[in-house]
Amino acid sequence: MATKHCYIFNTLKQGFRSNYLISRNMSSQPKLAGKVAVVTASTEGIGFAIAKRLATDGAKVVISSRKEKNVSSAVEELTQLGLDVTGTVCHVGKSEDRQKMISTAVDKYGGLDILVSNAAVNPFFGRALDCPEEMWDKIFDINVKTAFLLFKECAPLMEERGGGSAIFISSIGGFQPIPFLGPYSVSKTALLGLTKCLAAETAADNIRVNCVAPGLVKTKFASALTDNEDIADRALENIPLNRFGVPDDIGGIVSFLASSDAAYITGENIVVAGGTQSRL
Ligand code: NAP
Repeated sequence: MATKHCYIFNTLKQGFRSNYLISRNMSSQPKLAGKVAVVTASTEGIGFAIAKRLATDGAKVVISSRKEKNVSSAVEELTQLGLDVTGTVCHVGKSEDRQKMISTAVDKYGGLDILVSNAAVNPFFGRALDCPEEMWDKIFDINVKTAFLLFKECAPLMEERGGGSAIFISSIGGFQPIPFLGPYSVSKTALLGLTKCLAAETAADNIRVNCVAPGLVKTKFASALTDNEDIADRALENIPLNRFGVPDDIGGIVSFLASSDAAYITGENIVVAGGTQSRL
């Protein structure tokens, strides 16, 4: 009797295991096949690398940023690589632009599964106490409020598809404020909390919300730090891998978080910073 039970158990176990392997690992489909993504601020830098990686992994991607010519050239570059992308102008601070970006995903690709909220500004450099109110407002409007509004606008569409994945792009500065970038850093700390708040509220709808916090990545945004030899040398002392990040370092982790390989991950803040110490 015991042998019979053992046989049945092993047969069931093997059946489950092979179905699991077929569905999770052995599929010939790219891991984001059938998924639709919108990525803000994706015509250059980190956003562009994320859009490219999502599309390479099989997603259909809506590229966006403020300037039409940047959108056209990013779309052209990725289309020439054979990737399925489209583009729309979207200043994330403008409600009508956000709506247009989201409807582009729905009209052209039939729905929305993945949101990457990547846009951010930093108009102020100096002591936080010297930050004028209008700059403080701009930083928190674009970096935090807009990320929240975008999620709020996208979540119902994800729900319609039976779930989805949102990824906020924070910063290592969200864990440890970067000197002279206090207000920007605090806005990035807010994203860490927003991630946990929204993840808890939408888990029941199978919507996962995670956050990626890059260290110093070589882009236009960070060029004042990475291109200044003195600052760069000092910054590298705190990076065990002894190099600045490149945008592709961020694309891979975002694609992983968007995929079913991360099906059991939500509410997490993941630092991608070459080993730089992060604490909160
Ligand atoms: P970047 O290379 O300067 O790229 C900026 C992109 O944002 C461009 O496509 C730009 O295109 C678009 N953009 C700017 N303002 C926008 C707005 N209001 N609405 C929509 N698009 C806008 O910047 P990045 O370094 O890749 O930074 C991307 C994200 O990573 C930001 O959230 C940043 O805080 C974060 N981050 C960066 C680093 C780093 O070291 N680079 C480190 C930590 C975190 P248009 O001019 O056409 O709008």
